[in-house]
Amino acid sequence: MPSKPPLTLYLAAPRGFCAGVDRAIKIVEMALEKWGAPVYVRHEIVHNRFVVDGLRDKGAVFVEELDECPDDRPVIFSAHGVPKAIPAAAEGRQMVYVDATCPLVSKVHIEAQRHSEAGLQMIMIGHAGHPETIGTMGQLPEGEVLLVETPDDVAQVEVRDPTQLAYVTQTTLSVDDTADIVAALKARFPGIVGPHKEDICYATTNRQEAVKAIAPKCDAMLVVGAPNSSNSRRLVEVGARAGCDYAQLVQRAADIDWRSLEGITSIGVTAGASAPEVLINEVIDALKARFDVTTELVETAVEHVEFKVPRVLRATA
Ligand code: SF4
Repeated sequence: MPSKPPLTLYLAAPRGFCAGVDRAIKIVEMALEKWGAPVYVRHEIVHNRFVVDGLRDKGAVFVEELDECPDDRPVIFSAHGVPKAIPAAAEGRQMVYVDATCPLVSKVHIEAQRHSEAGLQMIMIGHAGHPETIGTMGQLPEGEVLLVETPDDVAQVEVRDPTQLAYVTQTTLSVDDTADIVAALKARFPGIVGPHKEDICYATTNRQEAVKAIAPKCDAMLVVGAPNSSNSRRLVEVGARAGCDYAQLVQRAADIDWRSLEGITSIGVTAGASAPEVLINEVIDALKARFDVTTELVETAVEHVEFKVPRVLRATA
């Protein structure tokens, strides 16, 4: 048997699950334990098919709209957050619901409301159509939050009063792209009020930093994550920009384009915040089957963040 070519595997840390994803999955599992199946979940609880399929097998039913849920079964709202109208509609129907919105997304919701109550018009930096953006913009009446995605949008945006503005951001954006957009906002609207600290969450920031540390050493990079996962897609972009010639998003080992990896001697592996470690290990095992792998862990931060599940699930009675 021919010997396998050598490959140095730079494993990014932190990678994969964040505290918000961990909590959201726990919420569905605990709701199933408490109330039995079926438990309805509005939108993919986190953007990962493997996770969603696993919960579906245990009795979770995934729907896109609240109208698809019966009144007499519990419903859970996904980690990305929901517009205010959704819990209000659930209350109107006297449904039992559990909000799995990540506390770091809820924090942005509160910021947006606080600024609006203070008379400031809100601008959101985010991706149009992403559930988190829809949820955050939906904390205020329709049309109240203006969305910008690029510095060009900043140049075009029409505001009520340029001196009465504040901004919030999606939590899973590219740190560097967002800095450019914030700079454009501050240049055009010098008085604009922003968050004390970035709305981009610790998990997004840490995963991007780890990718930046490994990218210059890697001939290729694999990011384990789903195509609809914003933070995973940003990791691919960050990797490519930080000097890695070939960065690919893969949901699992079967997605690896082996032809693109021919002749490489180094590879980076990381994962988005909604990708479970089992899929990362599957990718690493697939690499080990084809290469003689030497693994180097590159750790740029250590995370100790943990969020409690809502009280309704903590109660024993
Ligand atoms: Fe919360 Fe950040 Fe994880 Fe999103 S990526 S669920 S904001 S910790």
